[in-house]
Amino acid sequence: MHDPGDFFVKFWGVRGSIASADPGTARYGGNTSSLEVRCGGRLLLFDGGTGLRYLGRELSMNGPVDADMFLTHTHFDHIAGIPFFGPFFNPRNKFRVHAGHLLPAMTVKHALCDLMMAPLFPVPPEIFGASMEFHDFHAGETLQLSNEIRIRTAPLNHPNGATGYRIEWDGKSICYCTDTEHTPGKPDPNILDLISGADVFIYDCMYTDDEYPCHVGWGHSTWQEGVRLADAAKVKTFVVFHHDPDHNDEFMDGVQAELDKVRPGSVVAREGLVVRP
Ligand SMILES: [Zn+2]
Ligand SMILES: [Zn+2]
Repeated sequence: MHDPGDFFVKFWGVRGSIASADPGTARYGGNTSSLEVRCGGRLLLFDGGTGLRYLGRELSMNGPVDADMFLTHTHFDHIAGIPFFGPFFNPRNKFRVHAGHLLPAMTVKHALCDLMMAPLFPVPPEIFGASMEFHDFHAGETLQLSNEIRIRTAPLNHPNGATGYRIEWDGKSICYCTDTEHTPGKPDPNILDLISGADVFIYDCMYTDDEYPCHVGWGHSTWQEGVRLADAAKVKTFVVFHHDPDHNDEFMDGVQAELDKVRPGSVVAREGLVVRP
């Protein structure tokens, strides 16, 4: 069981855009966005990419699950694991699924029904046996999960919208900001405000500053911009996330080596990594 006094984030999927089964990406991992956060005895899931299936396997081995899932947005790489998340099929489990980028035109329940719809998928979400609640909010709102757990949110700059999260508990904080694109030379004020003084800052680092000019408007940022934001907001630990599927392990080793020089203590996310604020 998990110590209710513990607060950590564990990475189950760190890849952006599409999963990579290439052996060259095996060390950092090929699964798309999926994070497990334990906080004050509660289980929080962030995004439902392909990494979620493996988290589900582990959760299924340990008793009933009662958890909140927060989606940054509903692009495929962040929800592809949802139809394959074992705990959703167990009637003993309870989930609340939250999203902040869809109102007023859409709801998260509707978006997931559209994902699991013939002929794209053989069974609808009604197949889930767990108790499922869906909660839409507007990015920018603060979600009070319990007396002790507060989740601040902010809108991110991404096609179709996305939500950045800051989980606060016991005077500590973890921020999760993906997918988002920066404007060179102009740090995103929404992000700076959200991550101010944070202990852990996980950021969309799909590209390098050198690669970025070929990807303007694609909705993603660079690890160098992440460093600039982390420095400006006085963040403690900066975490590089949402790796390009074309960036193999050697490439990511190179990013880590650069980080060791410019911002020691920063880390490139890999599957299985645990970070404590
Ligand atoms: Zn993505
Ligand atoms: Zn996206």
